[in-house]
Amino acid sequence: MEDKVRPAVLVSACLLGVCCRYDGGHNRNEQVIALKDRFRLIPVCPEQLGGLPTPRIPSEIRDGSVFAEDGTDVTENFTRGAREALRLAELFGCRCAVLKARSPSCGSKVIYDGTFSGTKTAGDGVTASLLKKQGIRVYTEEAQKFGDEDIC
Ligand code: SF4
Repeated sequence: MEDKVRPAVLVSACLLGVCCRYDGGHNRNEQVIALKDRFRLIPVCPEQLGGLPTPRIPSEIRDGSVFAEDGTDVTENFTRGAREALRLAELFGCRCAVLKARSPSCGSKVIYDGTFSGTKTAGDGVTASLLKKQGIRVYTEEAQKFGDEDIC
């Protein structure tokens, strides 16, 4: 039976401690994990959903495409992963998402600039961008407030 009390929120799996990050690590965040008491958290890793291995070569967005640090064009993987994340968001009725800041998939408003130099630029990750286009509100783990009224 559907849980009508707690809204569903899509979450970057690495924020929950899943070792899906490009280097095999995670970005466990206790503030995000604490959201499980008020929301149904739906974990996704768009890069894994897009068929990329873990560990994998880090990637960044440049000129609207996504490139691994060795120059391989991985745009198709990132696009596929975004579609799969959206599929799950729609399946579970997520109206908002809490995604990892600055990731080329999950980042919102600020991402790395494609030079692999740590330089940031304005922009959304591929998944964050697709979710926003579908009307899903995207937050990062760096959001200061996670009250019901702030998220869903
Ligand atoms: S794609 Fe998103 S969920 Fe997966 S490791 Fe990167 S930031 Fe985390």
